[in-house]
Amino acid sequence: MAFGQPPLPYDFNALEPHMSARTFEFHYGKHHAAYVTNLNNLVKDTELADKPLVEVIQASFKDTAKTGIFNNAAQVWNHTFFWNSMKSGGGGKPSGDLAAKIDATFGSFDKFKEDFKTAAATQFGSGWAWLVMEGDTLKVTKTPNAENPLVHGQKPLLTLDVWEHAYYLDYQNRRPDFIQTFLDELVNWDFATQNMA
Ligand code: MN
Repeated sequence: MAFGQPPLPYDFNALEPHMSARTFEFHYGKHHAAYVTNLNNLVKDTELADKPLVEVIQASFKDTAKTGIFNNAAQVWNHTFFWNSMKSGGGGKPSGDLAAKIDATFGSFDKFKEDFKTAAATQFGSGWAWLVMEGDTLKVTKTPNAENPLVHGQKPLLTLDVWEHAYYLDYQNRRPDFIQTFLDELVNWDFATQNMA
């Protein structure tokens, strides 16, 4: 069975004006879709074709013969996770256990935001910023290109795509503005809380 592209959890225009329908036409409709097509072509008639996506990611990481498979499989997973990391009317602060854990780990929610902004802004070139659980500990991390926390034994709670294609139509070169808007207007803390459970 071929890998599919899960439907967006909202309409293309749902996150406007912070992320435009035009961005989703390209980012979901072209970039994400292409990773799915490429992955299916690369695993066709191999033993990975029928494995769960996360297994494909873990089995192909650091295997020089499977670099293309890893890159496309991880990008399929990362984008689906990213769409769910945002919602209309998102942003602001988490509540409950996650809020308490953020305060305990980072000292304050503002300090968490600073750490996340720094990770997302300093990922040189293409990549991702993450909030993860490592064991029982929260961490802010960044990964290059397609790499993600699943290959480092961490549990992802939320992510931000900082590839240029994620923000160029709406923010051009202003990655810091994109990061700030993600935190203030888009981040889906309900999703992060579910992932922590
Ligand atoms: Mn992307």
